[in-house]
Amino acid sequence: MENRGVIKPMLGTHYPMISHGKGIYLYDDQGKQYIDGSSGAVTVNIGHGVDEIAMAMAEQASKVAFVYRSHFTSQAAERLANKLADLAPGDLNWTFFVNSGSEATETALKIAIQYFQEQGITSKTKILSRWTSYHGITLGALSMSGHLMRRARFTDLLEDFPAVSAPYCYRCPFHSTYPGCGLQCGEDLERAILEIGAENIAAFIFEPIIGAAGGAIAPPPGYYEKIQEICHKYNIVTIADEVMTGMGRTGKLFGVNHWNMTPDIMTLGKGLSAGYTPMAATIVSDRIISVIKQGTKSVMSGHTFSANPLSAAACCAVLDYVESHHLVHNSEARGEEMITGLKELMMKYAIIGDVRGKGLMVGVEFVSDLMTHRPFPAEAKVGEQFLSICFEKGLIVYPAFGGVRGYEGDSIMIAPPLVVTSAQVKEILNIMDESLSELMTRLI
Ligand code: PLP
Repeated sequence: MENRGVIKPMLGTHYPMISHGKGIYLYDDQGKQYIDGSSGAVTVNIGHGVDEIAMAMAEQASKVAFVYRSHFTSQAAERLANKLADLAPGDLNWTFFVNSGSEATETALKIAIQYFQEQGITSKTKILSRWTSYHGITLGALSMSGHLMRRARFTDLLEDFPAVSAPYCYRCPFHSTYPGCGLQCGEDLERAILEIGAENIAAFIFEPIIGAAGGAIAPPPGYYEKIQEICHKYNIVTIADEVMTGMGRTGKLFGVNHWNMTPDIMTLGKGLSAGYTPMAATIVSDRIISVIKQGTKSVMSGHTFSANPLSAAACCAVLDYVESHHLVHNSEARGEEMITGLKELMMKYAIIGDVRGKGLMVGVEFVSDLMTHRPFPAEAKVGEQFLSICFEKGLIVYPAFGGVRGYEGDSIMIAPPLVVTSAQVKEILNIMDESLSELMTRLI
């Protein structure tokens, strides 16, 4: 019996000990093979055990692993920032490096507020977001998230930021259907702005495609164009939280690339380092940085490990790998195969209500009634059961259910490393087929 050690997500539960990983596969110390169908937490975009990354990290570590950002910059960090400036849309040219997605969104919040303060506008301190969202676990990030279960214990400490309905067509909050709906979900932002007062709002933060809080929910065409127009009209900074959607996950390099929109700030995490080291980033537009440069000159944030050369070198090597192996294209092509295969399974299993997503960020929503989209009762723990059946059979899928306002469904996500092949997509679909069959027998 353990009486010390790592605090695991569920205390008292046994977790297998990892031995090693290669490509989309992981192996525990008992020799069991798992397909990493979720890339961990939608993170390991280039797959496990890539020697080029290990070599790049070893080379950097032997030169210098750490310098403090107040003393030095490094070639690795500058190269990464320049590369991101080349790739990011519009004038997103300046990168503030942090260590986790939560820190990246929290930094975005602070920069948006500081941008207005530098102009003498001190009332713009609220950040709007959507109720169906997850932007991180730290208090600022949680304040912007609609994850009620994660907020519950700390509500007294949180700002009540989220205010807007999600563009969730399968369960439209306005009981309408696209395109006849006139994008009421987009108009809901304007309603919230008028209610709260534009003079009080610094920014609107959104996941281009909603991930952990709903399972790959992508808005209909025209939604982000509308959001951008409304934010410009009311002088509100747009923050695209690309922590999950960025770096090729959705079949384009960035999630916003699916729409005609250019955010003022963009956050990255997860796929930026593909999990080889903790690293995340807040990318900021020329417009915002030039205001701060003409003012106090210093972005009021920072962490000890920000922009450390070791993590930056790992990320440069990951980006090179993504480009040289055409992984963004592979994400798009394999994602289409995955969605086609899942739609076939949808015909076979009456509990699959929706299959959705873009690239290799694919969501499956379980329902108890296909006609009414009625979800299963929460006590049935259908999503959880499916996850554990898959895990037993050696397939890891990602949970996207539980305690999110504006979302009552039971969704899971399939998000394998972007290196997945067509044959491996079939392998994943076969295990899903077997697992769905087992789930059905449990539910009867
Ligand atoms: N933003 C989004 C969209 C996320 O999906 C997550 C994590 O799932 C975060 C922020 C928080 O990132 P981290 O867990 O690295 O702090």
